[in-house]
Amino acid sequence: MVEAYWPQAEPYRIKVVEPIQLLSREGREKALERAGLNPFLLKSDEVYIDLLTDSGTGAMSDNQWAGMMSGDESYAGSRNYYNLARAVEDIFGYPFFLPTHQGRGAENVLFPLLIEPGNYVPGNMHFDTTRAHIELAGGIGVNLVGEEAYDLSSEHPFKGDMDIPALIDFIEKKGPNSIAFILMTVTCNSGGGQPVSLGNMKRVQEVARKYDLPLFIDAARFAENAFFIKKREPGQEDRPIRTIIREFFQLADGFTLSAKKDGLVNIGGLIGLARSQEELLQKARERLVPLEGFITYGGMAGRDMEALARGLYEVLEEDYLAHRVGQVARLGQKLLDIGVPIQQPIGGHAVFVDGKTWLKHLPQEQFPSQALCIELYLESGVRAVEVGTILAGRDPQTGENIMPPLDLLRLTVPRRTYTDNHMDYVAAAFGKIGEKREKIRGVKMTYEPQILRHFTASFTRV
Ligand SMILES: *Cc1c(COP(=O)(O)O)cnc(C)c1O
Repeated sequence: MVEAYWPQAEPYRIKVVEPIQLLSREGREKALERAGLNPFLLKSDEVYIDLLTDSGTGAMSDNQWAGMMSGDESYAGSRNYYNLARAVEDIFGYPFFLPTHQGRGAENVLFPLLIEPGNYVPGNMHFDTTRAHIELAGGIGVNLVGEEAYDLSSEHPFKGDMDIPALIDFIEKKGPNSIAFILMTVTCNSGGGQPVSLGNMKRVQEVARKYDLPLFIDAARFAENAFFIKKREPGQEDRPIRTIIREFFQLADGFTLSAKKDGLVNIGGLIGLARSQEELLQKARERLVPLEGFITYGGMAGRDMEALARGLYEVLEEDYLAHRVGQVARLGQKLLDIGVPIQQPIGGHAVFVDGKTWLKHLPQEQFPSQALCIELYLESGVRAVEVGTILAGRDPQTGENIMPPLDLLRLTVPRRTYTDNHMDYVAAAFGKIGEKREKIRGVKMTYEPQILRHFTASFTRV
């Protein structure tokens, strides 16, 4: 069952439009051939509705654009920095913050200060760049999300929750001294945008306190997570979103944040630190200057800091969040209605289609979800992305293709960018594909890069 968050239409009206166009079928075929059947390599002008990612692809408000005009581009002490500092303290309750050019910049500054080579970083489920920065700092990322996260049809309301017994077990086994910090990702991006409950965060904090371990939040979708808490967690339904966020963040020692998601801006990032972390702040400042920029801009223009300071407030609006999460849920429900198997409950920022199940005539070695991405683009000009066997890559020891249990196609919805009509068009495209899905052919790679192959690989049909 899908919760109905969408009694209302879009809670905004449109002041500026960006034309998009659907190429002819022939044009799409040519474009995709040129791209080696890899939608990542399409030009955006060749795409009608782009659901590749929700990162940095959202629309800013008139108020944010007005803020862009009041950018103070002073090298040091820009007024927009102080506006952003006020917003961070007001919303998250953290007195210390540093701006960065995006989320991975925050990770790059902070993680080496927390990780000794060989240390573990347990979390619910780490995002790709986050894991990469843990590893670059010599650490080892460990995913301890609850088992429901791996069951596509489990209706568990908080599939991003940490498995508490597994966390305690892990700490006991490895010894607290070998653990750098605990990281909670909200919502759990790699787990499908699934939320983390406030109750689970409290239990993680108790574990962190018991073993004297720092607890950090990877906070890219902090507002969407708070919305799910309000809607799904018993006792939370009458609390304001801001109160939930405050309580959630008070449990941690700090956060890294990609502002390209719930910051409602196209580029930017943050490090936030609790009052107890003054020493860490000093060290982070020292790293920030050579890596990102001076402490009052950290890789962001003054105008971008202003847009972010305003975006952080806009994302808390409940009618915005209801429409945002509701738009994604609405798309998911339309797919369910026509028999397309998807991950449930539907996450906050994307619908994940179970390509392996829907195209069950294709063996996993023939990349069913990639084949579906290709068909979707040809049918409709919609760009999606495979999150499955291609993304998983090869085992570094054996060189064999890793066969992940899930082989999915992700439809990632940018914020405030497309209307429900666009989503209906996407669902209709799946309806058409459904009629002929047994005829869809699998693909194999004709060019396979050694690392991060999904971005630039080429394919041919088998
Ligand atoms: C996007 C994202 C990041 C990385 O942020 P960038 O702004 O893309 O560098 C880290 N963690 C999570 C959970 C994310 O979604």
